[in-house]
Amino acid sequence: MTERGLLIVLSGPSGVGKGTVRKAIFESEDNDFQYSVSMTTRKQRIGEIEGVDYYFRTREEFEAMIDKGDMLEYAEYVGNYYGTPLPYVLQTLEKGKDVFLEIEVQGARQVKEKVPDGVFIFLTPPDLAELRLRITERGTDAPEVIDERMKVARDEIEMMSLYDYAVVNDEVPKAVERIKDIISSEHFRVDRVIGKYRKMLEEL
Ligand code: 5GP
Repeated sequence: MTERGLLIVLSGPSGVGKGTVRKAIFESEDNDFQYSVSMTTRKQRIGEIEGVDYYFRTREEFEAMIDKGDMLEYAEYVGNYYGTPLPYVLQTLEKGKDVFLEIEVQGARQVKEKVPDGVFIFLTPPDLAELRLRITERGTDAPEVIDERMKVARDEIEMMSLYDYAVVNDEVPKAVERIKDIISSEHFRVDRVIGKYRKMLEEL
């Protein structure tokens, strides 16, 4: 029987660079885990591809997925729904492949409740001042949106205690290496492999 894959959750405060780090992880060649493409009701941005960056859906379509029980988690974030479709996650884990989610913290909290043996990684900004700079430098958001994002970020940092690992995003390539190291080490944890050894013993 194939062993189930690991569910890896990357989360962290707004503006910390989760998306950038996730993209850098998947642009590097030597990784062996699958990205779960999220579903959202927000508008598609220029350069984004349906089915690659997100599944872009209407609120009605998104709510129908929720009603069917087809979302592993979902959250409303700055006026839009974001969520993880469940079927892909289940099928991929069953095949023995690791699944990687990059989601905001309300969603991560739901996954923690449903899948407590997942690997929960919190991406942290070097400091809050830099977080503010990163949000404003992006230049795409109105001041009210920036203020709201900052408030959300403060609360989110308080949530770090729910996670297994905190990775500082001081430089993207460093954060990427730290995350890859965590994932490969997780495969060697005794509680993840002992079942296999016990089974081997029984079958001798
Ligand atoms: P953006 O609109 O900038 O692409 O994403 C906004 C936020 O939504 C980011 O913090 C991102 O991590 C989060 N996000 C993306 N996909 C999901 C998802 O499937 N579930 C949840 N809960 N958050 C998500």
